[in-house]
Amino acid sequence: MAVNLLDFDLEGLAAWCEGLGEKRFRAVQLFRWIHQKGAGDFAAMTDLARSLREKLQQHAEIRALPVFGEQRSADGTVKWLFDVGGGNAVEAVFIPEADRGTLCVSSQAGCAVGCRFCSTGHQGFSRNLSTGEIVAQLWHAEHSLRRALGLAPPERAIDNVVMMGMGEPLQNYAALVPALRVFLDDHGYGLSRRRVTVSTSGVVPMIDRLREDCSVALAVSLHAPDDTLRESLVPLNRKYPLAELLAACRRYLDRAPRDFITFEYCMLDGVNDSDEQARALVRLAAGQGPAGEAWPRVPCKFNLIPFNPFPASGLKRSPRERVLAFAAILQDAGIVTTVRKTRGDDIDAACGQLAGEVLDRTQAAERLARRRVDVPLVAAPSNAPAPGRGRSLASTVGSAPSTTTPAGARSAA
Ligand code: SF4
Repeated sequence: MAVNLLDFDLEGLAAWCEGLGEKRFRAVQLFRWIHQKGAGDFAAMTDLARSLREKLQQHAEIRALPVFGEQRSADGTVKWLFDVGGGNAVEAVFIPEADRGTLCVSSQAGCAVGCRFCSTGHQGFSRNLSTGEIVAQLWHAEHSLRRALGLAPPERAIDNVVMMGMGEPLQNYAALVPALRVFLDDHGYGLSRRRVTVSTSGVVPMIDRLREDCSVALAVSLHAPDDTLRESLVPLNRKYPLAELLAACRRYLDRAPRDFITFEYCMLDGVNDSDEQARALVRLAAGQGPAGEAWPRVPCKFNLIPFNPFPASGLKRSPRERVLAFAAILQDAGIVTTVRKTRGDDIDAACGQLAGEVLDRTQAAERLARRRVDVPLVAAPSNAPAPGRGRSLASTVGSAPSTTTPAGARSAA
């Protein structure tokens, strides 16, 4: 089978070219043709020797992902559904803003982490994407947008990439790092390390490895101020609890291109959106654990994400005034806090809505469904506490959040 050149970072391509008897500068030329000019056909690479083009035709290909569909939102957001074979399809989303264009890229077909509020997590897991399949999302998006917008190099459509699509990127580390290197390489897409973000649900050992291997900006899906609630929202928290996660964030900052970690926080009505939970986050950021113990202080910024409901979640979006009150508590404590604008929700392209098509090979979806029964969510304490009983989320959905479960307590099933 022909080698897919999208699978290589520049060093990998140089080594492969060496095997063909070609010098490194030929690999640089080839890399620039593929990533900077978007060439998909070796015949177009006119400054390469004919003999090299013939070898490439014989041994290699630039394997773009077949596009199942492209949808455009009224707000300019574009979503592509890419066929990755075997009954799986993954999504990538372009989000245009006044000062930048962002591409949200997928790293896996499905996801085994199974976060409760995430549409991908509810579908289970099929497989990791290869480096070539990760890079192909940017390759297609950048060059098709350039053609549509009439942009010519050095103009580009995408100057910001976030690994926040389908999948947990740090559970596909071997394929992720070469892809990041392609994004960053001056002969590739030339993106700044500050403008490439890996978002993780908290795979602690891999956060440490990323710091050593390719320290781009880091975003961490936090979603709760204590371990009990976080375990019920982000099951990986059982393996890597908050104290370990925050310590890894602190270590990451020694090499990070930014001097803060972005904490993503999906706002769930009556679950994690109370004033007391906002104050607990302020204490965490200041280096104080839930029981008042000393934890590493993590310079951070919060990104509050309005939840995008989907039928299987049984969760509701926090009302806008609750999100603003929550944000105000963080901001008053001096923490930079933004509320993410929902983009592309008319085409199901907003955060947490990416679902693609996943042939679940691991029964992750089934396990997740069982876990939802085994570990009921803990509802947020009321903002006007009163003595009383806790109750599980299931009983609060559809009603005003008026529960009194203490923060951190596990409610009875
Ligand atoms: S939020 Fe991320 S880590 Fe969690 S299930 Fe969704 S894709 Fe996986």
